[in-house]
Amino acid sequence: MSHNADVIVIGGGPAGLTAAISTRRLHPNKKVLLIRDVETSLIPCGIPYMYGTFNSIEKNIIPDKVLEMNDVRLLIGHVDDIDHEGQILSLSDGSSCAYEKLILATGSKPFNVPIPGRDLDNVIFVTKDKDELSKLRSSIEATKDIVIIGGGFIGVEMADEINKMTDANITIAEMFPRLLINAFDETESKEIEEILAKSGITVRTGSKVWKIKGEGAVESIKFAKGDVIPADLVIIGAGMVPETSLAEKLKMPKNLFGGILVDDHQKTLAPNIFAVGDCCAKISYFDGEQANIMLASVGAYEARVAAMNLYSEGPINPGAIGAFSTIVGGKVYSSVGLTQANAMNMEIPTLSSEFKDSDRHPSAMPGANPTKVRLVFQDDGLLLGGMVSGGTSAGEAINVLASCIQAGRTIQQIAMMQVGTHPAVTASPVTYPIINAAQIGLTKLDACV
Ligand SMILES: Cc1cc2nc3c(=O)[nH]c(=O)nc-3n(C[C@H](O)[C@H](O)[C@H](O)COP(=O)(O)OP(=O)(O)OC[C@H]3O[C@@H](n4cnc5c(N)ncnc54)[C@H](O)[C@@H]3O)c2cc1C
Repeated sequence: MSHNADVIVIGGGPAGLTAAISTRRLHPNKKVLLIRDVETSLIPCGIPYMYGTFNSIEKNIIPDKVLEMNDVRLLIGHVDDIDHEGQILSLSDGSSCAYEKLILATGSKPFNVPIPGRDLDNVIFVTKDKDELSKLRSSIEATKDIVIIGGGFIGVEMADEINKMTDANITIAEMFPRLLINAFDETESKEIEEILAKSGITVRTGSKVWKIKGEGAVESIKFAKGDVIPADLVIIGAGMVPETSLAEKLKMPKNLFGGILVDDHQKTLAPNIFAVGDCCAKISYFDGEQANIMLASVGAYEARVAAMNLYSEGPINPGAIGAFSTIVGGKVYSSVGLTQANAMNMEIPTLSSEFKDSDRHPSAMPGANPTKVRLVFQDDGLLLGGMVSGGTSAGEAINVLASCIQAGRTIQQIAMMQVGTHPAVTASPVTYPIINAAQIGLTKLDACV
């Protein structure tokens, strides 16, 4: 049986969905088929919230009606191989599909962290698989001592949410000296560690796990420093690696982090094959060097770039800026671009400026939250990064900063930004945090001259 289409997307995650929808929208005469190898797709970023906030897995499913509404055909099946000369895919059920253009959006899988004992019972990796995650739910209900390995956003969000559904002791084990080291500077990392500690979660930074111990099932964790703590459930959220089995069959070259190499139009080296999302290589927007950024927002962006380049030369992807938000103990922490530490590693001298005020005015307004904005900029004022913390408005504030970075804005220009305000929905026009942080930044630039 064959399921031919003009454009075939392999993968039903955020990058695959965006690629399929954008292709239909931009090329309405083309038939689009999306193939994924799971019956139901979870919203990956919503995974931690299935444990505490939703208390349900069913509430975190990507509705297939989004495909129907956009006239994208869906096929559930596993693609086994690609004949790139004949432009035909083979599926594991024996069927095949011919394509004109192919978009690989095969995503990522958990990094199989080389810790002895990781195969013991009750050691569970944070995957995007519904059955595995359901198994994790049942395991949590029956445990007393949970250890989460990995203090990036996956580990931190899982700890914060699981803490809402159990009285078990929860420990986060992180080998780096602080949590979320790639996304935030020290101030935010410390604040997050304090919030977690207040909610009863033990945070062990600078603590490399040496061994997961137990007879059949996990019983304890041994750290490299020699100390041992009890554990009857271990959750591993120590990063993801690109899923590239198909690309390997085509001998497609990969980058340092295992992502399929693409050009700035998202084209792979194989004719008529594009790659987007976690499976493909990224470069940093800031220095053009290889980057290990795996975010749904970046994947969706790449998917839009690919859709615009399928049939003619379209805009280029200048590299990943990396905007990101998380929420810990009800407080939002958002980050974009370079932290001062990242910039220092790239040997870019930076300055920073900060401003705090409410995100509503007056601050007695229902829903108001204290908000802090920190800007990171070059000594000529070019914005390189930012961090915003506070209420949910921080999530959109960081997106404003992401747009500013993409547009090459300086803090001089941001200090001159025109915005709309209203007491119940925004910060005050007088103390608008982004603009005030930029204006304070100007005084630092002046001092530098
Ligand atoms: C717990 C957690 C929380 C996260 N939170 C955030 C967040 O808040 N914000 C953010 O931006 N990012 C977040 N991320 C990262 C984000 O989930 C990933 O960047 C995103 O899922 C990547 O999307 P993708 O479409 O490239 O791949 P994936 O989501 O991995 O999807 C890959 C798809 O390909 C299919 N597939 C693979 N191989 C085949 C094959 N051979 N045949 C058929 N189908 C195949 C899979 O079934 C799947 O449908 C989070 C990740 C996790 C794990």
